[in-house]
Amino acid sequence: MHAPTIAEKATPYWWEAAPLTPLPEQPLPKRLDVLIVGAGYAGLAAGLMLAREGRSVAAFDAMNPGEGASTRNGGITSGSIRPDYDTLARRFGEEKALAIEAEGKAAREFLYDFIKTEGLTCDFQLVGQFKGAFGYEQYEAMGRSAERLAKKLGIEAYAVPYAEQRKYIGTDVYRGGTVRMDIGGLHPAKFHAELMRVALASGVAVHGGTPVTSIERDGSGFRVVTSAGALEARQVLVCTNGYTDGVVPFLRRRLVPVRSRIIATEELAPEVMARLMPKRMMITENREVGFYYRPSPDGKRVLLGGRDSSRVGDPVAPKLLLRRGLVNLFPELENVRLSHSWFGNVAMNRDMIPRIFEKDGIVYATGFCGSGVVWAPWIGMHAAHKLMGHEERARSAFDFRPPAFIPFYRGNPWFMPAFIQGYRMRDRIAMWRASR
Ligand SMILES: Cc1cc2nc3c(=O)[nH]c(=O)nc-3n(C[C@H](O)[C@H](O)[C@H](O)COP(=O)(O)OP(=O)(O)OC[C@H]3O[C@@H](n4cnc5c(N)ncnc54)[C@H](O)[C@@H]3O)c2cc1C
Repeated sequence: MHAPTIAEKATPYWWEAAPLTPLPEQPLPKRLDVLIVGAGYAGLAAGLMLAREGRSVAAFDAMNPGEGASTRNGGITSGSIRPDYDTLARRFGEEKALAIEAEGKAAREFLYDFIKTEGLTCDFQLVGQFKGAFGYEQYEAMGRSAERLAKKLGIEAYAVPYAEQRKYIGTDVYRGGTVRMDIGGLHPAKFHAELMRVALASGVAVHGGTPVTSIERDGSGFRVVTSAGALEARQVLVCTNGYTDGVVPFLRRRLVPVRSRIIATEELAPEVMARLMPKRMMITENREVGFYYRPSPDGKRVLLGGRDSSRVGDPVAPKLLLRRGLVNLFPELENVRLSHSWFGNVAMNRDMIPRIFEKDGIVYATGFCGSGVVWAPWIGMHAAHKLMGHEERARSAFDFRPPAFIPFYRGNPWFMPAFIQGYRMRDRIAMWRASR
């Protein structure tokens, strides 16, 4: 038996099978139709669409393309929106709330179809998602939501009572939950590599390790300065999400980067995996700062993620917190070794809704609030259509005013640890109430 340890590697588990590979340096063009800042899922999906419509397009990334969240995430194709349906309906009215939910369904279906038709090898499996309830009241409310999803959108969704929970997940922590079968899992780094492959083959020029340092209006277009030199672009699309820097201060004041962390266990025995995750589903919890977890695509490990309230370095405390969470769910993993623990940035905005918007001629596709595997390609592609003036194909419930700015914030989220602690406190109170 091993003594409990913290993870052996601080790099994503995903990079073992799909390592980041620096792209060969290439000459800087003088002029472009569209320049994209950021080469994660959003930037590449937009580039692909633009190149296929005959635009000259280049995506610039400050790091290796994909080194942001797009090769670090959990690979859960949730396409979820933070505010629940009732909150959306209160804020925007029933019609918009339903349009947002319906677009989630369309975006998921688009992604699955895209993976298939483009032949992207990324271990995608449509296995369904289980969401755990804390207490009977939550279970009831979640059951009503599942019923609405099934009735209004035709999504296969249903409640799982506590008595049947172990058929779905090997824990007694939840008091039942819900399942939706329109969510699955993929290998995020393979998905990014494959997206890059088709983008490059379609004529997108991708410049890695080349930060964009300024964007200025120049006549009817833009003069863009990068670390490799300056160029002219007719249009600019910004896809920087949780890695947004000071190049567009307007965006920086509206997006808050927050760390999300994942731990991966060592390989577990097949009978253990069959007990813990009998249906190999993706799992989430119904709380403000809950865990998300899943089996690795080969079904041999558990990967568990959650918020990380640290802001600098790679401290031990957030890893221990996830480890404790894992053992609380699955006590038999008390002595398990962790092979990997890593973090990346997600981007939150004030209303927690992803966005396409335009400001001073620059188009933005960003703000995925921790759920970008489905949203980033979808929003990226819609932003591409917006740039090309394709009114019908650009139409999206997410194309509206820019997110509100955050008072007293200029890029240093000093308040985030306190916010996360506040949410955790709310969760504890809700769980205490549920347990009475
Ligand atoms: C640990 C973790 C787990 C997650 N799990 C899930 C999940 O299971 N399901 C899900 O749906 N979502 C998940 N997400 C969120 C998802 O990964 C992101 O929403 C998505 O990858 C965002 O893609 P993107 O293209 O917008 O941004 P990114 O992939 O983050 O790319 C942005 C890029 O912009 C570049 N950049 C920034 N500034 C500049 C500049 N000035 N010049 C040039 N380049 C610049 C950065 O270098 C970066 O590569 C998770 C995220 C993390 C971190």
